[in-house]
Amino acid sequence: MKVGSSRQPPRATWHRLYTTARWRKLREYHLSVEPLCRFCLEREIVEPATVVDHIVPQKGDVELFHDPDNLSSLCKHCHDSTKQRMELGQEVVTFGADGWPRGVTEKS
Ligand SMILES: [Zn+2]
Repeated sequence: MKVGSSRQPPRATWHRLYTTARWRKLREYHLSVEPLCRFCLEREIVEPATVVDHIVPQKGDVELFHDPDNLSSLCKHCHDSTKQRMELGQEVVTFGADGWPRGVTEKS
């Protein structure tokens, strides 16, 4: 089994953050104030969000994990496709409502 980079703790240690009451409350609150998928809205598509995503990958950073400004609402499709590619550092081209590419999203 491959061991991840030494800079970040193994997944198991921070994955538990998702099971805490603090996170569940924060997640529910976030979905109540931002109930629609942010990526879909950029394309003028109204899609209910089901995933609360961390804009900056939290990698076990508890402060970042619970930072309300670091959260965005996504639908499962956007989370599983666009977002995953961004986190892998791959180029992501999004399309505007006019059908033209909005430019390549740079990895921050
Ligand atoms: Zn979406």
